[in-house]
Amino acid sequence: MEKYESILIKNGILLTMQGEGVGSIIDGAVAIEGSDIVAVGKTADVVKEYGSAEHIIDAKGKAVLPGFIDGHIHTGLSLVRGEAQDVPEIEWMLKTMAPFTSYLTPDHSIKGSRVGVLEALKAGTTTFGEIGGNMTPVAEQVFVPSGVRANLADTINQIGPESRPDPRKPYIFFEDIGEAKFKSGVELVEKYNGKGDGRVSAILSPHGADMMDKELLLRVKENAKELGVLAHIHVAQGGREELQMKMRYGMTTIKFLDSIGYLDDQLIAAHCHQTEDSEVEQLAKRGVRYASCPASIGLIDGITPPLGLFLQAGGKHATIGSDQAPGNGHHNMLVEMKVAALLNKSRHRDPTVLPSWKMMRLATIEGAHAIGLGDKIGSLEVGKKADVILLDLKVPHMTPIIYRPVLNVAPNIVYSARGDEVTDVIVNGSVIVKDKQCLTMDEVKVIEDAQIVATEICEGAADGFLEADGWLAREVKRGLY
Ligand SMILES: [Zn+2]
Repeated sequence: MEKYESILIKNGILLTMQGEGVGSIIDGAVAIEGSDIVAVGKTADVVKEYGSAEHIIDAKGKAVLPGFIDGHIHTGLSLVRGEAQDVPEIEWMLKTMAPFTSYLTPDHSIKGSRVGVLEALKAGTTTFGEIGGNMTPVAEQVFVPSGVRANLADTINQIGPESRPDPRKPYIFFEDIGEAKFKSGVELVEKYNGKGDGRVSAILSPHGADMMDKELLLRVKENAKELGVLAHIHVAQGGREELQMKMRYGMTTIKFLDSIGYLDDQLIAAHCHQTEDSEVEQLAKRGVRYASCPASIGLIDGITPPLGLFLQAGGKHATIGSDQAPGNGHHNMLVEMKVAALLNKSRHRDPTVLPSWKMMRLATIEGAHAIGLGDKIGSLEVGKKADVILLDLKVPHMTPIIYRPVLNVAPNIVYSARGDEVTDVIVNGSVIVKDKQCLTMDEVKVIEDAQIVATEICEGAADGFLEADGWLAREVKRGLY
């Protein structure tokens, strides 16, 4: 990465995210000293004091905005991209993903995560709300050295290889597995909070209410409170989970979590799509932070998660996330914003739901608040950390740039951009992508390594995948792929 004492980005169209909308400044500039933003305004004004910065970036014809926040992501699963989609939800996790994930070693997670981070970073994601197993080595070897910002969590559950022989029977929980995962989750928080010059933070993640007993669920929440961190949990993720919750507790996930006092503003709840409208309203009322992954859930469950509804119900904090590549296919917030808007407009049969300025805010400042980092990042604002991205607007699909009556930069970023417009990425004041090239990772090697280990995993998993005879396996046997 390139570190400078001071950076001046000038002559750009700024979307600062200050105020209620996108906070645009035409012909704007951002000055950075060390890791902090020290000035934001019209170029003519900012250059007076910061014109002699050590590194100057001319952003003419470019949009300058805060880096995107992917609020819920599992980069470690990138290696199985394209091997688990278009299947019934009940069999996605257990019949389609499991043959692959049972092969995942820490080395696989590192190499998978690296390619997922690279993909997301090159499309402008600067902050990762990452959850996964094997998180300690991934933190050490991917998130700290790559220069990105991350809010990490090690998954805590009581699930072992023998836990789920039949998705229609209650899972078998193993207390010793739960203890080991709990310990490693807490250790991650103790060891990694503040690492990488403060870029990396860590929180706790109870995997889901269906993946562990009530005692451990409550203990994780209690510990998160003691450690002063948020708890990031999967909630009501489809019919498979609902079946488990009804068999075990005789009620839905939301009703169960509410009955044990779990729903409050310490919780980041991901997905929440197997829900009645009244349950979503309850989440909003309790102040729960909502992480919505519309593309992933649309593809895996065939459901639009209730992001529009949550916000209409007064939900205070929401973020969007790309979830995992197998199922979703991407870690690209530009795609995610468009899909989120499109699906929610369709769900509500109302094109005014989630306008492009709101999607931009959910992917930046509001997402930052949702994951507990809103005072540090998410906007171009004096005193915030310098997480800044530049997008080239002088390409055919982003043309024209119009200033009035509607400044069309936010709509064009949300509905037209693909990710390859991102030319430069600065995180914590350091340049980590320059002229579309990542400076912190050897891109060719990252892709080669991912290809090698993914081939190993898929070769190892192939027989088990075909024997499980799920929907996708049957299509393969019919010669359709
Ligand atoms: Zn997830």
